Amino acid sequence: MIITKNKDINAIIKSLEGRKKIYLFGCKSCAEQCHTGGEAELKEMSASLEERGFTVTGHSLVPETCYRQYALKEYKNAACKTSDAVLVLACGAGVRTVADAADESQPVLPALDSIFLATVERQGRFFEGCSLCAECVLADTGSICPHTDCPKGLLNGPCGGVADGMCEVNVENECAWVRIYERLKKQDRLHLMKKTAPPKDHSLSVKPRRVLLRNPVGAVPASKKKGSRP
Ligand code: SF4
Ligand code: SF4
Repeated sequence: MIITKNKDINAIIKSLEGRKKIYLFGCKSCAEQCHTGGEAELKEMSASLEERGFTVTGHSLVPETCYRQYALKEYKNAACKTSDAVLVLACGAGVRTVADAADESQPVLPALDSIFLATVERQGRFFEGCSLCAECVLADTGSICPHTDCPKGLLNGPCGGVADGMCEVNVENECAWVRIYERLKKQDRLHLMKKTAPPKDHSLSVKPRRVLLRNPVGAVPASKKKGSRP
């Protein structure tokens, strides 16, 4: 799940400078769960913009704003197309998806800042779960991520600052490498601590990254498409 937070309203107003009629997009997935882009937040944003003299022409709350099919469908809405700008209450991928669906002459602007990819401990408690490094090392680290849980991203054991098992950077957290050691010990896999992790292959994370599946889930096989030959 992608965690987002609200941008400062003054920054949003500044980005809308010179525009009067604003259409809003929310996201019924991650942003709704973060209380940053659900129905309640769309209403709050509408009220806030109207108070400041803008006209909110309408809003769409789509299942996942980062899906182009939803963005394209909603963008056909006349009120959306004819507004001076679109303000998106979703993660950066959502903003970009709406922008790609929109007419290029229409500004599509972010209302949120995207922060991290989370594991959800329970409703409303989110922790950074993965830094998307493209080369997962969890098999050797007891499924504790040294990229994510160690602020220095150390791959070969702890730094010299660990004190009484605690991290010298985030002093309220246990050192990731102490946790890795303890977990591997319980699993009787401490030999993995002797392995030297090779330098990270950053060529794997050259951006923008892209995945093109040959048989995506939900796609209709060509043989079953209407009119296709068996
Ligand atoms: S090693 Fe950490 S950052 Fe890399 S893919 Fe695995 S969980 Fe994500
Ligand atoms: S104390 Fe541990 S978790 Fe903190 S920076 Fe050093 S190695 Fe990383």
